[in-house]
Amino acid sequence: MKLYNTLSHSIEEFKPNEPGKVKIYTCGPTVYHYAHIGNMRNYIGHDVLVRTLKYLGYEVTRAMNITDVGHLTSDSDSGEDKMLKEAHKEHKTCMEIADFYTKAFFDDFYALNCLKPDIIKPATGEIDMYIKIITKLLKDGYAYESGGNVYFDVSKVKDYYQLTNHVADKMVVGAREGVEEDSAKRNQADFALWFTTSKFSHQELQWDSPWGKGYPGWHIECSGIAIKYLGEYLDIHGGGVDNIFPHHTNEIAQSESYLGHKWTNYWFHNEHLLDSSGKMSKSNGAILTVSVLKEKGYDPLAFRFMVLNSHYRKQLLFTYDNLNQCEATLDKLRTRILNIKDEGEMDKNLFDKYNNKFIEEISNDLNTANALSVLYEVLKDDEVNGHTKLELIRNFDQVFALDLLPKHTSLENEDEILKLIDKRNEAKKQKDYELADSIRADLLSKGIELIDTREGTTYKIINN
Ligand code: AMP
Ligand code: ZN
Repeated sequence: MKLYNTLSHSIEEFKPNEPGKVKIYTCGPTVYHYAHIGNMRNYIGHDVLVRTLKYLGYEVTRAMNITDVGHLTSDSDSGEDKMLKEAHKEHKTCMEIADFYTKAFFDDFYALNCLKPDIIKPATGEIDMYIKIITKLLKDGYAYESGGNVYFDVSKVKDYYQLTNHVADKMVVGAREGVEEDSAKRNQADFALWFTTSKFSHQELQWDSPWGKGYPGWHIECSGIAIKYLGEYLDIHGGGVDNIFPHHTNEIAQSESYLGHKWTNYWFHNEHLLDSSGKMSKSNGAILTVSVLKEKGYDPLAFRFMVLNSHYRKQLLFTYDNLNQCEATLDKLRTRILNIKDEGEMDKNLFDKYNNKFIEEISNDLNTANALSVLYEVLKDDEVNGHTKLELIRNFDQVFALDLLPKHTSLENEDEILKLIDKRNEAKKQKDYELADSIRADLLSKGIELIDTREGTTYKIINN
């Protein structure tokens, strides 16, 4: 598989540390608010990567954190904790805020058919690990105590800006407009590993540490959780492009200084989803979430389909026109597939031909749009019999996860639904609208929604 590696700024052949096995870490959400559809684009990107690796036969172990402490409102270490700010606003405790938005996040995550990471850890549960790392960094001279906090000294690492391709050299924290100078730091680019009461005495969640009661910085959380649960050598680590600096840059500095060797081989970054006002952001007022799209009547997978139609390394502009189009196209696609009769024997040659084409596209730096074109080629090819087509679609959908084939229902089998659709069509022909409507309502009560398109009637299972 070929994968773009932010570390080398080029597309590379992917080789895991251990043959056949992949360890991957995804930066999880900061749960002070709902995750918007921009955040979810990033998680769809990671899901496609994981599904592709599994499709290629790798055994994948994936970990993700939940940031429930330490992510401050600015890149410098002078802002307020995002969780605490929201807790004050909503008159709740930080943990109540974290629980509520963590649940909301996973509701949307699963509605998009994203696979559950094997390991999911809230940052507040791993304090001992951060203390262990910081203690060693202090002992080895990579960190220092100042003004009540513990900071990482970036001048101690050889190539601190490697991940940014050195563009961030010019925008060092402290040199940028609007970022407050922190007089406790030796270099303005240094970053906090541990905050103590001297800095934020009003912080709600605090833990004892050798440096006083306090709480961890955001970056140390991901290093700590990744190293604790995935070991000293990581194959892939990823997030959105805004994580490259300072978050991932700092993760590399502290992890490699702690471990004494290279840590992550491939850095995977998803470009942003934009709206008409620019980059979507949680602090940007009204938040468009997957649940809101659902309330408006959209199938969350229409949004997934929209994301798969673009490349993960290109910015994508969200518009309702585009989403409407994607939903209509996905409905048509499902209808076409529903009308394929499961006939004929498996044609191994044609199966391999198209499956190889699919693999070629998907393993070419996750070219999902081209992989979807292969699906259309299969549908169009009259040489491929129904049974082989359905098998190919079933396989491709392990990566797309667009529910291209109807899910199992509470009805005995799919035939029964198809018979009812035929019966309803016949009723409509006979102008017996009462019967037609009652069939539709009956199916709806069983969680099956009928969708009429120009190509015919299809259905979808509604996740209530
Ligand atoms: P946060 O919850 O703010 O920590 O963000 C969760 C993830 O979403 C991070 O990996 C970000 O890089 C990513 N992200 C934030 N905004 C966007 C956006 N507009 N489009 C795509 N990804 C984003
Ligand atoms: Zn992270």
